[in-house]
Formats: sequence, structure tokens, C-alpha cells
Amino acid sequence: MGLQICPKCKEKSFTWFIGGKFPVTTWSCFDCDFEAKEVESGNSTCENCGETTKIRLKDKEREYCWCSNCNETSDI
Ligand SMILES: [Zn+2]
Ligand SMILES: [Zn+2]
Repeated sequence: MGLQICPKCKEKSFTWFIGGKFPVTTWSCFDCDFEAKEVESGNSTCENCGETTKIRLKDKEREYCWCSNCNETSDI
């Protein structure tokens, strides 16, 4: 699995794992320790790049959309 650009620190250190009791995908950055959980609702199409790589992430503060292809974030 490839590394993605972290939405927080913009370093290419963002990756995901599935852990815990429930099969929840957690994204985490090993550069700035940012962590977000993927909200189960499937991928949607990104308005920016047209790829179906837009997912919903939820971190400690907010919930938003993030595209793993072009790294665009948008509020819900
Ligand atoms: Zn980061
Ligand atoms: Zn995109």
C-alpha cells in the first residue's frame, strides 16, 4: 500500500490500517501523528479529479471528505 499525503502536515506519510474489534479503517500519519477514522459510507466521486477515491474521514475535531488521489479536502 502506498503512502498518501497527510491532510494535516502535507507530508507523504499518511497510511491506513484496519484494526481493533471492528473492521474500521484508520488513517494515520507517522510524521505528525494525525489520526482519522474512515466513515463507512463507501467511496464517492471527487469533484476535483473525477476519481472515485473520495472518502469520509472523522478525526477528533471534525468530519470531512478527503480524496486520496488528489488530496483535496472538503467539509460536509
Ligand atoms: Zn501528518
Ligand atoms: Zn480528487
